[in-house]
Amino acid sequence: MSAKIISGIEIRKSILQEIQDEVADMKQEHGIVPGLVTILVGESPASLSYVSLKIKTALSLGFHEVQESLDVETSEEELLNLIEKYNKDDSIHGILVQLPLPNHIDEQKVIKTIDPDKDVDAFHPTNTGRLMIGGDVARFLPCTPAGIQEMLIRSNVETAGAEVVVVGRSNIVGKPIAMMMAQKGVGANATVTIAHTRTRDLATHCRRADILIVAAGVPNLVKPEWIKPGATVIDVGVNRVGINKETGKAILQGDVDFEQAKEIAGRITPVPGGVGPMTIAMLMKNTLVSAKDHLNRTQ
Ligand code: NAP
Repeated sequence: MSAKIISGIEIRKSILQEIQDEVADMKQEHGIVPGLVTILVGESPASLSYVSLKIKTALSLGFHEVQESLDVETSEEELLNLIEKYNKDDSIHGILVQLPLPNHIDEQKVIKTIDPDKDVDAFHPTNTGRLMIGGDVARFLPCTPAGIQEMLIRSNVETAGAEVVVVGRSNIVGKPIAMMMAQKGVGANATVTIAHTRTRDLATHCRRADILIVAAGVPNLVKPEWIKPGATVIDVGVNRVGINKETGKAILQGDVDFEQAKEIAGRITPVPGGVGPMTIAMLMKNTLVSAKDHLNRTQ
């Protein structure tokens, strides 16, 4: 039997609608809307396209959106000063610096300069620490892991007591999603294994998973026989494996052999159209949360 497809496009649509409604209420009741500044250094086509999508989404929700497009030669000091300016700007609740940055700029220094209360990407060590503690202490959750958890919750996947295997231990996906799934709370309470390139017998670990989350960046790494029948498979991988000659667009493939895996899994996310669309939705949600916190502090 074919797996149920978990569509990030559909779930994103519901989340964005909920945000849009809340923004309209906030504007009517308090006369403010969430403010997001997007800072782009240089003109890398991939970064340009990510930032444009973020700007377009923020505007469509009624956010106050400020765009900063800086020359690739911008110095680290200039960038840090610009961030400080927005740290002090009360109309801005979220500061997004598009990564990666040019080599002459220290990425960690930039992340640490963003006010943790406006760090809607949730990469600041303060927010990483809060995530680790969990519960009410956690403030912003990093967008891709938050999107994964939201997909599980909205698809009614039972996580409590589930065996979760996360393939990948990056700071932006693998480690945070593993920690989030192990916390107490909704969409969590799981028993978590983290696998990586030094893991012995990856297949055996994967086969134990009720929920398999793969964020390795290796096309078709997970074979159908590694999947437990009926398991939920979340494929985070986005691998460019060629160019479509007709459209000129990149051909994307996940880390899981989707066509075969969907005959074994109970639920599965496609690539594209799975986790990808969720990331921007969660960025918008973080910005809304930040604006609400600001209101609570100041009114
Ligand atoms: P990353 O920083 O390159 O980390 C990849 C992780 O996978 C590493 O921990 C690595 O292990 C592990 N790994 C690689 N090959 C493996 C193998 N053969 N067996 C077991 N583990 C293996 O990648 P990332 O930033 O987390 O991204 C992972 C994938 O998700 C990429 O395709 C990326 O494009 C995609 N992604 C998608 C979104 C989105 O949809 N919004 C967001 C972020 C990332 P070691 O630590 O041992 O090297």
